[in-house]
Amino acid sequence: MSEMRCRALIFIGDGLGDRPVAEFGGKTPLEYEPTPNLDEIAARGECGLMDPISPGRRAGSDTAHFAILGYDPQKTYTGRGPLEAMGVGLEVQRGDLGFRCNFATAEEQADGVLLVTDRRAGRIAEGTREIADAVNAIPPIDGIRFILEPSVEHRAALVMRGPSLDPHVTDADPHEENLPVHQVEAKAPEAEATAKALNEWVRRTYEVLKGHPVNVARAQAGQKPANVVLPRGCGIAPHLRPFAEEHGTSGALVVEVGLIKGLGRYLGMTVLDAPGATGGYDTDHISLAKTALEALDQAQIVLCNLKAPDLAGHDGLAQRKCETVAKLDEAAGVILHGVDLSSTVVAFTGDHSTPVSVRDHSGDPLPIAIAGHGVRPDEVRAFGERPCGAGNLGRIRGRDIMPILTNLIEIQEKFGA
Ligand code: ZN
Ligand code: ZN
Repeated sequence: MSEMRCRALIFIGDGLGDRPVAEFGGKTPLEYEPTPNLDEIAARGECGLMDPISPGRRAGSDTAHFAILGYDPQKTYTGRGPLEAMGVGLEVQRGDLGFRCNFATAEEQADGVLLVTDRRAGRIAEGTREIADAVNAIPPIDGIRFILEPSVEHRAALVMRGPSLDPHVTDADPHEENLPVHQVEAKAPEAEATAKALNEWVRRTYEVLKGHPVNVARAQAGQKPANVVLPRGCGIAPHLRPFAEEHGTSGALVVEVGLIKGLGRYLGMTVLDAPGATGGYDTDHISLAKTALEALDQAQIVLCNLKAPDLAGHDGLAQRKCETVAKLDEAAGVILHGVDLSSTVVAFTGDHSTPVSVRDHSGDPLPIAIAGHGVRPDEVRAFGERPCGAGNLGRIRGRDIMPILTNLIEIQEKFGA
């Protein structure tokens, strides 16, 4: 490790990249909105375009963050289930299976079949903690433990832990109402024991919950009971080397999205919450930036994510997206004035594009600007999709970011002699 211990901060505007907007004369929100601080970073730094996965590939926030944190999502991403479990704060271990779940309403038919009449249990808002506690009292089935954690409203996550589990199973969730609870099926012979235990567990959740006090009270209030738990999206906890082992130094996250926080904890990173960071349009972006600066005292590499640009992209609101870009720029100002660029490297980019015209993630590349220790500044003077394309970094992938940073801060091991 370098004597002076340089540090690196990567700041992500979630869903930052965009496409030309007619009302902005064909500029993107990032090109249209004044961004003096981001422009200064571009001017003092080296710029380029970044494809989160590879050119044209549409990335989720999860796979993009795998890549940006230095892991190959093509090899290590095993689906949303385990990340969902990590995101709600469940401790996930290697080999565990993770699922997303719904608390749902089922009606038992004369033949014993459970008919799902409401997949969201009337969007239950209270009592899910008590319900989950009751479900978690179900003893292990065939030596397999089930750990359920409620999330927002009717949502929950499940961890299945035990010997010889296999993730190749179908969902118990029928995905439509007035259909029976789906019998989980093994998609491979090795998954038969997993499917059998899962079916048994789903049935037990009904037995435990049908007369639960929360549901008795809901029935009295004319609300639908949350009397069955429906798992879906099974995945096995991915094999990822801890961040410190992978990169030879400590890492910290200051992010607003539960999924990414969970991934960070799984990687053994320090996960800090910024006061007032809501993950919404009303988030305290200044607090987020200040917390990221504080995190640099605790870890050598810090990743910070501002969620708001992605929300505006999904909502299809160009003016709103400009407002989130302005917030990102203010956060960049806090960073710019809070670090010593002679001993720190800062990188500004996004995790994927969420164009307001698309209202979803697209495969368009993102601008990236890297400034500080060791950087050779180029001719780019503005931070935007097209200006950055002219920079010396050229076109890189998400997975290239971590090696570029560890090289600049001089902690990377040599490849070869
Ligand atoms: Zn994202
Ligand atoms: Zn999104």
